[in-house]
Amino acid sequence: MNAPKTDFDAIVVGSGPGGATVARELSLQGKKVLILEWGDNKPVTGSFTYTLPRVFVPGKSLLITQEMLGMIRGITTGGSSVFYCACAFEPPVDMFKSYGVDISAEVEEIKKDVPIAPLADDLMGQGPNLFLNTATDLGYDAWKTNKFIYQDRCRPDCPVSVYGCPYGAKWNARVFVDEAVKHGAKLINHAKVERVLIEHKKAVGVEYKHDKKKHQVYAPKTIIAAGGIGSPLILRKSGMQGTGYDFFFDPLLFVYGKIKTLTSGKSIPMSACVHFPEDGIVMTDFNMPHLVKVLFDLEVFKVKQAFSYKNTLPIMIKIRDDLGGSLTKHGLVNKRLSREDRMRLDKGADHARRILEKAGATETYRGWMFAAHPGGTVKIGEQVDTNLKTRFDNLYVCDCSVMPQEWGLPPTWSILCLGKRLAKHLLALEKPAGRENIALAVSNTNDSEKPIKAAAAS
Ligand SMILES: Cc1cc2nc3c(=O)[nH]c(=O)nc-3n(C[C@H](O)[C@H](O)[C@H](O)COP(=O)(O)OP(=O)(O)OC[C@H]3O[C@@H](n4cnc5c(N)ncnc54)[C@H](O)[C@@H]3O)c2cc1C
Repeated sequence: MNAPKTDFDAIVVGSGPGGATVARELSLQGKKVLILEWGDNKPVTGSFTYTLPRVFVPGKSLLITQEMLGMIRGITTGGSSVFYCACAFEPPVDMFKSYGVDISAEVEEIKKDVPIAPLADDLMGQGPNLFLNTATDLGYDAWKTNKFIYQDRCRPDCPVSVYGCPYGAKWNARVFVDEAVKHGAKLINHAKVERVLIEHKKAVGVEYKHDKKKHQVYAPKTIIAAGGIGSPLILRKSGMQGTGYDFFFDPLLFVYGKIKTLTSGKSIPMSACVHFPEDGIVMTDFNMPHLVKVLFDLEVFKVKQAFSYKNTLPIMIKIRDDLGGSLTKHGLVNKRLSREDRMRLDKGADHARRILEKAGATETYRGWMFAAHPGGTVKIGEQVDTNLKTRFDNLYVCDCSVMPQEWGLPPTWSILCLGKRLAKHLLALEKPAGRENIALAVSNTNDSEKPIKAAAAS
């Protein structure tokens, strides 16, 4: 049976950085795109009450591992980028190249589309400055991180950015979704995609739930961008059983120091960092809203410390974890930290304590562990080829799930580049082969000849 006629050139499932970029790029080129997003599209208010239902719903946006690591993801237009810390780590171009994926051009292109720069000195809060200066004094190679922030819209000492920025200062993927919609894309919210419709080994559309009813929609191309957890679940239900295994989730913890000279606990978090690439550890300042700190303190029974906000400097330790684990069929995360992962966290915590003590901390304590960036669940070279195509024709994946290996650093810039590259590939497939397109077609042919290891198994 042939799939019914459709108004759309492409369906994009999920509107985080991966999906939003593909949707934007295709829409800017006149393609008709349908974006299906599980979450809502209410304006960001920058409050705890806004964040709670989009990030902290157990089993949906808050997933807890058997070792009680809480992993959060944003279920809303823009995905986790609405609540992220807007730290822009330069993509690992060579790592991608070693898998046959060259994103060097896209790394530069994204710089023109998205604000990327370290914070101006007057936007650096007390905590980040103390972290940066003390780490430098101790001989660490500390630097200001790049931020995805429109700094002219920013307020110094703003405590709300992790609740989503109501002033439009923090770039998030909604900016790209809005551009896509302005250029003709259709966004349907509260649309939870269940599976891809496959006919004769080709994707022809998706089935989704909206208003408690099932719907089917068709398009010549389908791009799954439901994030590191969401995408493998959809793909499994569509016949790709090998997805959702052996992934990373970038575990992290906070070490807190009480420092009497500090007079403000408010600042934009992750403004400075120290990176130990060999050890797979990154360390940053991490001031957070007071209520979040209270919750984190209570998690480790630090009741007295929960009242101390202005004089506390939290430092975040994030590590590159070993690949492992599996997702259950309900999307729960089954992954334990390895002995090496725990050693990395301990080593990072020792560095943080050293900095806090040098900065004058009279008391330090360690918080519980979290995980932040689930990915590698639909890896390049295993379940998708170098053009992010699955073993089914017309079915692509573009989000953190395609990361080919563990990296240990915040991945948004990399995901944006993959989105741009995929859109270029899809557009090139449509054009008659002119000189320029022949060149692209040749490089794509080489790419797509690479084997998809797990496809055979799934
Ligand atoms: C607290 C926090 C801080 C972070 N800080 C940083 C940072 O500073 N820098 C950085 O680079 N990264 C950071 N990250 C990570 C970054 O936000 C994510 O890596 C990035 O958003 C992943 O993009 P994505 O497109 O893969 O998926 P997501 O952002 O997860 O988007 C997936 C989208 O798909 C939707 N979806 C899921 N399932 C379905 C379905 N079945 N049907 C329809 N839609 C569906 C979701 O609602 C969501 O909108 C942070 C993450 C968190 C949680």
